[in-house]
Amino acid sequence: MLSKDELISLLGVQGNDVLQLMMKANALRSDHNITYSKNVFLPLTNICRNECGYCTFRREVDAPDATLTMPPHEVMATIHQADVYGCKEALFTFGEQADATREVKDALERLGFEGMLEYLYYLCERTLHETGLLPHSNPGILKKDELKMLREVNASMGLMLENTSTRLMETAAHQKSPGKDPKLRIKTIENAGKLKIPFTTGLLIGVGETVEERAESLLELRRIQNEYGHIQEIIIQNFKPKTGIEMEKHPEPSLLEMIRMVSVTKLLFPECGVQVPPNLNRDTAQIFLLAGADDWGGISPLTRDYVNPEAPWPELDELRILTEELGFQLKERLPVYPEYIKKDFLSDVIFKKIS
Ligand code: SF4
Repeated sequence: MLSKDELISLLGVQGNDVLQLMMKANALRSDHNITYSKNVFLPLTNICRNECGYCTFRREVDAPDATLTMPPHEVMATIHQADVYGCKEALFTFGEQADATREVKDALERLGFEGMLEYLYYLCERTLHETGLLPHSNPGILKKDELKMLREVNASMGLMLENTSTRLMETAAHQKSPGKDPKLRIKTIENAGKLKIPFTTGLLIGVGETVEERAESLLELRRIQNEYGHIQEIIIQNFKPKTGIEMEKHPEPSLLEMIRMVSVTKLLFPECGVQVPPNLNRDTAQIFLLAGADDWGGISPLTRDYVNPEAPWPELDELRILTEELGFQLKERLPVYPEYIKKDFLSDVIFKKIS
């Protein structure tokens, strides 16, 4: 266990010490596999109660490209097509508490659902019964009873912690995003732990947080993991400025900052998968593997990454080359990591489907 001071020191190393840090992190690999999940991305709505300063996904309800709700026939047709392509993960990612917006609520009621989570449950259940895919949902912050309901039909779930800094709630990043209150996000991750839900979380790097706040955020995840042991994967995602967003002129984190973050995350979480999204880092993806990352995340042969639509996922063949050039092997995984394929971490229906 590293102290906060040690983490801060490691997050500032220079010169040869950077190489040593990378080597230490790399040495913690249990094998030479770099994993990925063959998934299909299902953005059920792009309406969101938050307005993060770096978001390109969210739309106003009256925008020409707003999706109030993807209709069930469209969702299920996409999942059935993904089944044909051999995808294993149905990734339901969408705006938080969209049904607090009247137009979305009305659209859901027309479909016969009282709210977005009821609709999500219905789609996950159909996915399980009609296809070979396993649902993994990222619906934003949730109450414990909501997590409990969704656990029945999800192999794993996710929520980025992003950062523990309440200070960011006063900045362009999160000042219009009540759902980005770190207390609420920590509560959701902890409740998922109490319910034994295999969980993916992570940090967003370069949105105005300090190095000290990065260290505090990692330590908070470590504390949660020590208590509940349900965190299977940690994503280290770099902020990317994009035209038209509020934080368009905000600088992105340097490659060196990202390398240090990835290595320090692996040092602190040797038992977890560490992922840097390859679609946001096409030119630098390999260096993160050398820094200790061991997962490429979800790769879809079928759908675009709608949260970062300008950044298409690299083809699987390209990822295989990037992986094998370094002497690693590309290995497909399910949305739930092998260590969590156990009766106490999965509902009966999910466990039976996998085993
Ligand atoms: S980043 Fe996520 S939570 Fe923030 S506004 Fe966009 S969709 Fe909503």
